[in-house]
Amino acid sequence: MALRVGVVGGGQLARMMIAPAVELGLELRVLAEEPGMAASLAASAVGDYRDVDTVLQFARDVDVVTFDHEHVPQDVLAALVDAGVVVHPGPAALGVAQDKLVMRARLAELGMPQPDWAAVTGPDELKTFLDEHGGRAVVKTPRGGYDGKGVRVVSAATEADDWFATLAEDARGGALLVEELVDFTRELAQQVARRPSGDVAVYPVVETVQRDGVCAEVLAPAPHASERLLEVAAQIGVAIAEGLDVTGMLAVELFETTDERLLVNELAMRPHNSGHWTQDGAVTSQFEQHLRAVLDLPLGEAVPSAPWSVMVNVLGGPARGSLDDRFAAAMAEHPDAKIHTYGKAPRPGRKVGHVTVSGADLDEIAYRARAAASSFLD
Ligand code: ADP
Repeated sequence: MALRVGVVGGGQLARMMIAPAVELGLELRVLAEEPGMAASLAASAVGDYRDVDTVLQFARDVDVVTFDHEHVPQDVLAALVDAGVVVHPGPAALGVAQDKLVMRARLAELGMPQPDWAAVTGPDELKTFLDEHGGRAVVKTPRGGYDGKGVRVVSAATEADDWFATLAEDARGGALLVEELVDFTRELAQQVARRPSGDVAVYPVVETVQRDGVCAEVLAPAPHASERLLEVAAQIGVAIAEGLDVTGMLAVELFETTDERLLVNELAMRPHNSGHWTQDGAVTSQFEQHLRAVLDLPLGEAVPSAPWSVMVNVLGGPARGSLDDRFAAAMAEHPDAKIHTYGKAPRPGRKVGHVTVSGADLDEIAYRARAAASSFLD
């Protein structure tokens, strides 16, 4: 009988697990937040992932439960484990990805390089941090942020008053995360897959280009990367995967600083936008690798199948209608591009698809990938 994987969350990451699941002969089931989501192509239930009974019911006859996002509450995860459900990544690892303050503390325990940081409960503590760090810093809400939402550069302690006020209303209390404003030359991402039995597969570190806090494009592998950079990034990825007992795919977002250090920005314990290039430019895609890893099957090679790949995200815009209208034109104009769409309504700034081009000449494929992605624009 086919192995069954249950994915909580019905977004594009779950959607992109469908093709490799079919190829591997697995059965993929999705618990989607609402009908018609990106992953509804798979056998899907609709329900609230915060509700214990809903998730337990969904998990009843699958071999492993995994995730399209990190937001499943700890009480739900604990109920799954108590009921004997196999969950990867496990609750302890996921807890680190759910809260940026917990993440900073655990990374510090593991001795990972990261920006100076502190937990601040009010403007006075924020002012102290600002005074010690040249008057500017980055404030982050520890939970629930994505695509730059919940991240703010501040130069005065009053600039986070609204977030402190929200904290004060929260019965659980809590603190904001403040970090030094890192003077980075570029952002990188290191992906590692890890099986429950301990085997790891390490992808080459990639460069991620962010615009307005959202990933715009990924260059894989990271251009101009020295052997040392590749090695240090890989060591950081493996140390975090092992240190936090991550199972499945891990993405470590990194800053490369002007003095050539790598600092950890953020962690994602699932397939990640920085790894979409692997669908078309690596021996084993991150989606296939995630399925293999959470099922504790042997991992595939994590090596590029072309010298370079460039992935460009397609974002919805104010005047953008259905992508379907432009699909045929984009295909006709860019037959070399691998075009992926998520079946999502194109709202402004929303990731609705991506394009990958692979080849031997980085400048040329970057040009072609950008042209293909922009053919979806009005
Ligand atoms: P999100 O969870 O929304 O992805 P991140 O913590 O990854 O938020 O931050 C979003 C972006 O903000 C990063 O990709 C980076 O460009 C910028 N950023 C975050 N932290 C810092 C920092 N400490 N110094 C400089 N820039 C930062």
